Amino acid sequence: MDRPTMPHTKEWFEWLETRNPQQALFTRTVIAVAGKNDVCSICGDEPAPVYRSVTETMATLRLCSDCHRIRASQHERFELWEPSQQR
Ligand SMILES: [Zn+2]
Repeated sequence: MDRPTMPHTKEWFEWLETRNPQQALFTRTVIAVAGKNDVCSICGDEPAPVYRSVTETMATLRLCSDCHRIRASQHERFELWEPSQQR
């Protein structure tokens, strides 16, 4: 994979499973429980815009406002990602 993909797609899960299988399994469960795809990758809340990690540009995920705040407090930096601008 040479560019970030939309979170929760088949390609995204394949990428995540190579680097963080536990997170991949967790997010699969979150989506299954929510019953839809466009929810927070961490907790299943919505709205959950797509973010890209500033430090690791390949890393994308959906974050609700709570999870975004928690990640930010752990010194992870994310920016909103608009996939249509990348293609
Ligand atoms: Zn969340």
